[in-house]
Amino acid sequence: MTSVWLALFLSALAAMADTVGGALTVVRQFEGRTLASFTSIGAGFLLGATLLDRLPDTLHTMPKLGVTYMLIGYLLVLTLEIIRHSRNHENTHSHATGHVHTAAMQGGTIALVSMMVHTFMDGVVIAGALAANRAEGILMFVAITLHKVPEGLTISAISLNSSNSRRRAFLWAFLLTCSTIVGAITAVVLGSVGGPSVNIIMALATGTFLFISTSDLVPFVRAQEQPRNMLLLLCGCGVFYLSLTLLQSIGLS
Ligand SMILES: [Zn+2]
Repeated sequence: MTSVWLALFLSALAAMADTVGGALTVVRQFEGRTLASFTSIGAGFLLGATLLDRLPDTLHTMPKLGVTYMLIGYLLVLTLEIIRHSRNHENTHSHATGHVHTAAMQGGTIALVSMMVHTFMDGVVIAGALAANRAEGILMFVAITLHKVPEGLTISAISLNSSNSRRRAFLWAFLLTCSTIVGAITAVVLGSVGGPSVNIIMALATGTFLFISTSDLVPFVRAQEQPRNMLLLLCGCGVFYLSLTLLQSIGLS
């Protein structure tokens, strides 16, 4: 299989994990403890992938401007998250005015847009990393797929919260799948065009990953206040470290 087809195939496979997460939410209420465990492992794996793989790679390909683009990517996701939370905050105040339903709908839509930007970057990273190095790209594919099931669960839960339609909850998770695939196609197209554009979008994506792992998933694990979840995060991080070291020692990375 050529690199392009492999990149698109693995991106589509990872993207399906969003729909699987959404379907799990729609079919039955997921047990909180199971979700927290799964998210903790995924958080550790993604933290390792961001700091051990994406960060050095970005600094290598863009020694001067890489950090600036990473900061822009980080701030972009942070801004979208703050807008989303401010809408949620307004929701709680709008009970008194009777506009709660509309406000919840708007908050849900902002969450969807914010997560679609994020999942677009998921696709960019899988395809971009695979184009640069097949073995490392496969590791990134695993890291991203692991956090995509909880991602699909989250967006479906938000959708169900703002409207009781199970159909819409499933559709929203599917939209995350679509934006991941669009991200992968974008990375492939920019890569074939050549020039610095693919490096820029990869650096932006690394910034979004820095946010997702350190400012979204790690705080989630901390908030659980369970040593068990911290251990699972350490395991996820350790497995990524060992996998990367193994690839490097056998010369695949
Ligand atoms: Zn993601």
